[in-house]
Amino acid sequence: MTPCFNWFEVAYYWMGLKMYDLVAARHILHLSRYYSVQESIELFPTLARKGKDKSLRGTVVYYDGQMNDSRLNVGLACSAALAGAAVLNHAEVISFLKDEGSERIIGAKIRDNLSGQEFETYAEVVVNAAGPFCDSVRKMANKDAQPMICPSSGVHVVLPDYYSPEGMGLIVPKTKDGRVVFMLPWLGRTVAGTTDSNTSITALPEPHEDEIQFILDAICDYLNVKVRRTDVLSAWSGIRPLAMDPTAKNTESISRDHVVCEDFPGLVTITGGKWTTYRRIIFSMAEDAVNAAIKSGKLSPRNECITGNLRLVGGDGWESSSFTVLAQQYVRMKKTHGGKVVPGVMDTASAKHLSHAYGTLAERVATIAQNETLGKRLAHGYPYLEAEVAYCARNEYCESAIDFIARRSRLAFLDTDAAGRALPRIIEILAKEHNWDRSRQKQEMQKAREFLETFKSSKNAQFHDGKHK
Ligand SMILES: Cc1cc2nc3c(=O)[nH]c(=O)nc-3n(C[C@H](O)[C@H](O)[C@H](O)COP(=O)(O)OP(=O)(O)OC[C@H]3O[C@@H](n4cnc5c(N)ncnc54)[C@H](O)[C@@H]3O)c2cc1C
Repeated sequence: MTPCFNWFEVAYYWMGLKMYDLVAARHILHLSRYYSVQESIELFPTLARKGKDKSLRGTVVYYDGQMNDSRLNVGLACSAALAGAAVLNHAEVISFLKDEGSERIIGAKIRDNLSGQEFETYAEVVVNAAGPFCDSVRKMANKDAQPMICPSSGVHVVLPDYYSPEGMGLIVPKTKDGRVVFMLPWLGRTVAGTTDSNTSITALPEPHEDEIQFILDAICDYLNVKVRRTDVLSAWSGIRPLAMDPTAKNTESISRDHVVCEDFPGLVTITGGKWTTYRRIIFSMAEDAVNAAIKSGKLSPRNECITGNLRLVGGDGWESSSFTVLAQQYVRMKKTHGGKVVPGVMDTASAKHLSHAYGTLAERVATIAQNETLGKRLAHGYPYLEAEVAYCARNEYCESAIDFIARRSRLAFLDTDAAGRALPRIIEILAKEHNWDRSRQKQEMQKAREFLETFKSSKNAQFHDGKHK
């Protein structure tokens, strides 16, 4: 919902969102509409009735989709593997192989970052989709390559669930200093953001304390409760790889659309863009990149693009009521501290979580929870089960503790302390799955703890008025 503090705002946002409804046409989830102050407070109890010097006149509510990006990403990789792709995890391109005569890129040298082993692989064409790192990959082809992206840092903070009601978020398209802030329900908690500031590219960007404070202050202006710093369960920073217009002065004026180019023969780079556009019906990031690769490598595809109607793994046969089957048919067998095995119910929260995260494959996770006594929750207050660690290790290329807490589940992003408390059990299960010795287990614990530290703030203030200095 968008809060409006004068009638002009009501008319402006209402008309804007009606246009949005029209553009969405048959893809629309629900029609947008105006709610009075009283109705708005009923829908969103923590919404402020008064702004700094003006009163709320009502809200305009519109509907949008939300997804779990780590689950979608893993679903994509697993679907690609099922369709015949060779999927490599923790493998890094470290240099390119060139044809001696034509200088065309004909392959890459790759390092397996788990074993440290290096190997070469050959291809008709190489696609560089390295996000914020795409320029460093282009520099491997040509050390004088001009930058194509302008990295922009975006910080998010996670707060307890009570700040936003289920199914309803708050978005302020223009705060008093002209920026967007939002607060949305996300995976059982509330996520608030975001910043958009110039940054440098690092592998593990950290949120700065002043960025966190900026978000908290911005949302506080629209709530009738104080948002305390101590309520922040996790905070993280991501880098948006915005495609660069060399004449632009700031990141707000840089295009969020993607750019595809082949500025070095044999290397197609795709950068910019968003999740929203990766499989858009027209000008899709994936399709544009594949078409450029077909052209560059003079490839002869056997068929037209089929992914428009392709369901990802676990999607076929899934229905929003599928979780009830899990709740009815499975129990969670748990080992108590004394070593006794006891049955527990597959409660609604766990069943819903499994169904949303794994689709129809949730039944396989539930079977592990039942048959292998891995039915305990990994962290108090979160629906993640021990069985998921085993399932992800066996079926989803989960090779490290960080893989699980950040890239299979979202526990590290939801609650840093809860993720830290779950680590010993996660590592114990992964050790069994992958035959890790004691030293590897110790190493995993240390790396995961260091990783979790990046979800707390770094105190260095570099952020003023939304811009890094
Ligand atoms: C804070 C924030 C908020 C966002 N919000 C939204 C949103 O609301 N909606 C939306 O649609 N999108 C959003 N996005 C954008 C989206 O999440 C992606 O960042 C964007 O689509 C870019 O994706 P990508 O695949 O190009 O890059 P990435 O997702 O960064 O993937 C690049 C991959 O390349 C790998 N890589 C790097 N170097 C190498 C190498 N040398 N060898 C092998 N692999 C390498 C990396 O490990 C990584 O896995 C947001 C992004 C951020 C940061």
